[in-house]
Amino acid sequence: MSMATEIVQLLVQSAGSWLFEGTRSGLSDREWMALRFLALANRLSRTPTALAGFLGTTRGGASLITAALLDKGLVVRKPSAEDKRSITLCVTGEGKKLLERDPIHALRDQIVALEGSDRSRLRDTLRRVLVGLDVAERRHHTDVCSQCMFLVASGEDGDRHFKCRLFRKSIALKETSQLCTYFEGRS
Ligand code: SF4
Repeated sequence: MSMATEIVQLLVQSAGSWLFEGTRSGLSDREWMALRFLALANRLSRTPTALAGFLGTTRGGASLITAALLDKGLVVRKPSAEDKRSITLCVTGEGKKLLERDPIHALRDQIVALEGSDRSRLRDTLRRVLVGLDVAERRHHTDVCSQCMFLVASGEDGDRHFKCRLFRKSIALKETSQLCTYFEGRS
């Protein structure tokens, strides 16, 4: 077996932390995926369309998952602050509490236990692999705003301002470390 095949097999088995049959703490793996994403996404990606893009499903499929989260009181719909015709999906206090029992934490804890340098290398390597897949499959993966080619920064340290050139909107400092489905890598 080549080293590449061995690595792929290891990655596939790590997926057992987030892909499973049935439910865990009352949610299916897709519902967990949606709730987790909504808790980590910036305001421009907390929409039904962006959620569908992240889940790799249709708007209809994402609506069914959203409806289940709304029914359980884990998510609420709010009119967007920028465009009242648009909806933003927000995780409730109940949703945040449930996320403390996210089954993916088993994997996260193993990553936390790595040396800091190994963790950085793993992150950077996985990002490079995903960027390569983006090119090969003509898609773009979801990633943190700070790494996006559309983000421009101005001002001095301590008084930095950020703007998204794609949406032509200001981005708060804390949003630069949040996920966005419209992300495009710099290379
Ligand atoms: S700069 Fe990129 S990642 Fe950030 S909000 Fe805009 S499109 Fe999304």
